[in-house]
Amino acid sequence: MTDWNEFEFDTRAIRAGQVRTEEGEHSEAIFPTSSFVFKNAAQAAARFAHTEEGNIYSRFTNPTVRTFEHRLASLEGGERCIATSSGMAAILTTCLGLLKAGDHILASRSIFGTTVNLFSNILGRFGVETTFVNLTDFSEWEAAITPKTKLLFLETPSNPLTEIADIKQLADLAHAHDSLLVVDNCFCTPVLQQPLSLGADIIIHSATKYLDGQGRCIGGAVVGPESLLGTDIYSIMRSAGPTMSPFNAWVFTKGLETLSLRMKAHCESALILAQWLEQQPAIERVYYPGLTSHAQHELAKKQQTGFGGIVSFEVKGGKEQAWKLIDSTRFLSITANLGDTKTTITHPATTTHGRLTDEQRQTAGIKDGLIRISVGLENISDIQADISRDI
Ligand SMILES: *Cc1c(COP(=O)(O)O)cnc(C)c1O
Repeated sequence: MTDWNEFEFDTRAIRAGQVRTEEGEHSEAIFPTSSFVFKNAAQAAARFAHTEEGNIYSRFTNPTVRTFEHRLASLEGGERCIATSSGMAAILTTCLGLLKAGDHILASRSIFGTTVNLFSNILGRFGVETTFVNLTDFSEWEAAITPKTKLLFLETPSNPLTEIADIKQLADLAHAHDSLLVVDNCFCTPVLQQPLSLGADIIIHSATKYLDGQGRCIGGAVVGPESLLGTDIYSIMRSAGPTMSPFNAWVFTKGLETLSLRMKAHCESALILAQWLEQQPAIERVYYPGLTSHAQHELAKKQQTGFGGIVSFEVKGGKEQAWKLIDSTRFLSITANLGDTKTTITHPATTTHGRLTDEQRQTAGIKDGLIRISVGLENISDIQADISRDI
């Protein structure tokens, strides 16, 4: 098989991982099969005994899923990728593979709400404790790390305020305490940021977002070294079964082929929108790492090759004005999904962050006037016009 590591990113995004069948198909094949047949009883026995490599059952391996795994591993610069049925399944599989009762997770407070719930309420029942700290306050991370801490977990940029964590600094902290840094790279994708090259140990993806890019399928992935994924994490995959379906793997594989172009277009439009929003008198504040007014603009420039497609802003007048603006749009999709070609608009305080108490929302900086936009690929002047109908 070709060693794709010799090739540039855009070439790998289109070519890596494809294995042609005897049919000579040009586009990647889909193998919707639950099991695989053996030539004879001896081969079946050899496959089950692992003395011969090969497919047995699609919960373990499937050729279409493997193509997606090889392609994404190549893009993130990781030795191994394990595809999962969702982004949450990727996080769960990683935790089940690497943690046991008594272990401690140190996580950013600004992570996906369902991840907070998974850590606090579900893993908590199995004796794994989590402490949440401020993403950008290094002294909080330092103070909260304990001998029991096995994982540091973060997203950067964060949702919805686009705060940036210094990946290298936190990777060094993790390693000094015999622990691992896990980065959920959903917002940047490997096009804009490659956390493994900055010292992170494991990457999480919700493929549901930019990797698909057109809002069609739910899926996820874990990327990292063979030493962590090959046995501990893969054995959870095999025995607990949060497997990605071949059809979804095929959609994500084709999504990766256009990821680079899409991310560049998302970044371009998001910057235009953020700069324009910053000049509107009805807008209190804009959060976008590409703005020089962003508190960590320099760090974002150093760590990322683009600033992403998520723009958040506060309108004057709180929830009432925020809802009014959202309801005045004609074509933007009022939905919590992101990373789509279609622009989406959400009111975090009453949706994604609606389950938090007022005090938790205050601490998290989620104001009542905050709106989050995932900038899509429609013409930017139409997006702008749709937002400005009420401002
Ligand atoms: C959506 C999302 C997840 C969860 O992914 P699913 O595919 O919905 O399970 C995890 N992390 C981030 C940052 C997300 O945006």
